[in-house]
Amino acid sequence: SPSIVWFRDDLRLADNPALRAAIDRGEPILAVYVLDEESPGIRPLGGAARWWLHHSLASLSERLRERGGALVLRRGPAARVIPQVVADTDAGAVFWNRRYGRPERDIDAELKTALRNDGVEVASFAGSLLHEPWTVTTGAGTHFSVFTPFWRACLSLPAPRLPLPEPREIDGIPSAPASDDLDDWALLPTRPDWAEGLRETWEPGEPAARRRLRSFLDEDLGSYDRARDEPSAGATSLLSPRLRWGEISPFTVWHEAVSTDGAGGFLSELGWREFAWHTLFHFPDLATKNLRPEFDAFPWPRLKPSHLDAWQRGETGVPLVDAGMRELWRTGYMHNRVRMVTASFLVKNLLIDWHRGEEWFWDTLVDADGANNPFNWQWVAGSGADAAPYFRIFNPELQAKKFDPKRLYISQWASDAPAEPIVDLGETRKAALAAYDVVKRAP
Ligand code: FAD
Repeated sequence: SPSIVWFRDDLRLADNPALRAAIDRGEPILAVYVLDEESPGIRPLGGAARWWLHHSLASLSERLRERGGALVLRRGPAARVIPQVVADTDAGAVFWNRRYGRPERDIDAELKTALRNDGVEVASFAGSLLHEPWTVTTGAGTHFSVFTPFWRACLSLPAPRLPLPEPREIDGIPSAPASDDLDDWALLPTRPDWAEGLRETWEPGEPAARRRLRSFLDEDLGSYDRARDEPSAGATSLLSPRLRWGEISPFTVWHEAVSTDGAGGFLSELGWREFAWHTLFHFPDLATKNLRPEFDAFPWPRLKPSHLDAWQRGETGVPLVDAGMRELWRTGYMHNRVRMVTASFLVKNLLIDWHRGEEWFWDTLVDADGANNPFNWQWVAGSGADAAPYFRIFNPELQAKKFDPKRLYISQWASDAPAEPIVDLGETRKAALAAYDVVKRAP
């Protein structure tokens, strides 16, 4: 009886433990991807993410076909669709790599029980995080709320397992059941077609992810610690969307980087990724609720739609902010330092609730995910884990002087941006501090 491999945020063949388990089972294999926008609690993907997903699925499908396998696409609630595919194929086993959001975990747990009750073998694997969230705990057995001790604890655990090799051949099932046509999912924009900049910037899919890792390690890792904060330096790995979609596994990145001298700083960024996901695991409402409840008292002024609009369009008159927001709109990506500056500007100069910014990033980032995006927004806002002290407010002018001294990044993205800031940086800073005082006094 065939084995089903249910692909989710792991669109790769190499280091894919679920796929490996199916191969080891020795029966014909069918790969399945379910576009589930209906199950309770599932957050619909943003526009840029849908663009990436389309191309990554096309690539995965082709790679499976080249090796003798097939990818079946189905749309609908996974709890209904997966048992259907099992029935259609008379499958005897279903394998997947774990997910860590609460709604996803609930779906998977329910399915596991239902399938097992029907006599189907089910097994789930660790493929997306270096350490399972329940394995990294404080001496008291609780989870960490501060990054440095968290990462120290991770580093003291046994090293992450070695990545699994990529299968050369896949024994596909003789006749695959019906599949949706990827184009019918309409994941790509049509009118207007805003994806030109994404097409120019990215090549989704596992082979390009591997090539990017190689070139980063060979050419950029040496200057990473020195130049990673300069948005014009091109010194970072650009692996975030590849890790988001699982086109490359963190185990592969870890083991290929760890043997290179001076990789510690880079690896600790992977640590932040782990920390965000572990935080989501323990605090499933990360995107909707403040991690620090005292922040609920923050007296947000009434939303000024024109300010939010100017921020989204990169027309705030603050050059580094405008450059970042335009890079984001054009490419689906923004450099980390600039993400911090644009987010701080929204929350602390425009006094707009961090959720509005998180939602915009969710829709426009190719690497947006349910953990890293809200986690980092909360971190910048001051409501999150390991938060910067409330009173630390980025000054976007000083940040530009420090990290873009020759204005290379600004002139690349915002040479024609408005010259006058829409708000006074000094005045709004004072207003933000006054608002934070309310939080501090909150019971
Ligand atoms: P590198 O510097 O090469 O880092 C390597 C990898 O480490 C990244 O690919 C990423 O997986 C991880 N990483 C790096 N920095 C962080 C971080 N601060 N937090 C968590 N993981 C990190 N990252 C996302 O992957 N998805 C998001 O939705 C996201 N939203 C963000 C929102 C805000 C407001 C901010 C300030 C940051 C956000 N980040 C997010 C984190 C970070 O900006 C990106 O991961 C990074 O810019 C990706 O570029 P890179 O791959 O070249 O990073």
